[in-house]
Amino acid sequence: MKTIGIIGGGQLGRMLAMAAARLSIRTVILEPQADCPAAQVAGRHIVAAYDDEAALAELARACDTITYEFENVPEKSAALLSAERPVYPPARALSVSQDRLTEKTFLNDSGIATAGFRAVDTADDLAGALETFGGRGVMKTRRLGYDGKGQWVFAGTGNDPEAAFAALAGAPAIFEEWIDFDREISVIAARGIDGTIVCFDPAENVHSDGILRTSSVPANVSAGISEAAREAAERLLIGLDYVGVLGLELFVARDGRLIANEFAPRVHNSGHWSEAACVISQFEQHIRAICGLPLIDPVRHSDCVMHNIIGDDMERIPAWMATPGALVHLYGKAETRAGRKMGHVTVIEKRCDG
Ligand code: ATP
Ligand code: MG
Repeated sequence: MKTIGIIGGGQLGRMLAMAAARLSIRTVILEPQADCPAAQVAGRHIVAAYDDEAALAELARACDTITYEFENVPEKSAALLSAERPVYPPARALSVSQDRLTEKTFLNDSGIATAGFRAVDTADDLAGALETFGGRGVMKTRRLGYDGKGQWVFAGTGNDPEAAFAALAGAPAIFEEWIDFDREISVIAARGIDGTIVCFDPAENVHSDGILRTSSVPANVSAGISEAAREAAERLLIGLDYVGVLGLELFVARDGRLIANEFAPRVHNSGHWSEAACVISQFEQHIRAICGLPLIDPVRHSDCVMHNIIGDDMERIPAWMATPGALVHLYGKAETRAGRKMGHVTVIEKRCDG
């Protein structure tokens, strides 16, 4: 029987472990936090830091293949593990996506359009970027941002560049052109060890306060946009010689351009709907990909809307539990905190025609 090591013990690791279990594949979690969401459903939990070399060696010994559920796995850890066992997605996907400057450069080099951008290392760089982009845009730390953290929006007037630059506290940053978008979409795609590629239907995503709130499928976009989004994901998978599932976030600009924002080398929050509305979930697709099992065309059988359950949204769970067509998925987090992702609910809207 196969055993997969998963670095990271959050909800994504939990859902990967559950999908693996259904295929009789065992999982071992590496995560410093005791009683984390993933450890509750996995076979074994190594409680240690992501860069603990003895723990990494133990993980390699215990597993046939290693994967991860977050993109900030230390590069050195990925290198140590790669010397012992196959690590999928490949370490290169981590090094490219961990730094927004490298990531955007890689996307552009792969023929995928992004917002215009400039590196910001000094206050002068920020002033120059503001001038280039007409005072509008968003400054983001190059590393370690998530859920809109480490970001400063410049709306053209009323901003204080000096205060924003000071708030960086020396962290390298990037300034991005502001994109006036009609909507945000994402594509979840997978590539197998043999190079087979499959894509889920694009989802339309709504964020507030930098956090994903809902993903709706189908996205309200033309067939052309939908196809272009898939093609971009395919180019990215091939360019990275990728194995596993990846999420690519895109803007559909008011002027009709399709612009990539960022990608995550892992299963993605905007793909959670797949467990309710497709013949295969993104989680099982990832497990299949990294184990060399056949990938399945992720045919969607229903239209749906996925709602993230964030913080106090937990109060609505009893009502969701009683809602017909609503699939409730909770992450086993003991403590509800503001802004914390506690679960999600996918509401099946209607069956697809045909
Ligand atoms: P997450 O972890 O949720 O993906 P993140 O911290 O990595 O978020 P981004 O995805 O870069 O950050 O940005 C969060 C959201 O902010 C985007 O989904 C989008 O709504 C908005 N946003 C980011 N960059 C831009 C931009 N250049 N123009 C307009 N809106 C933007
Ligand atoms: Mg994002």
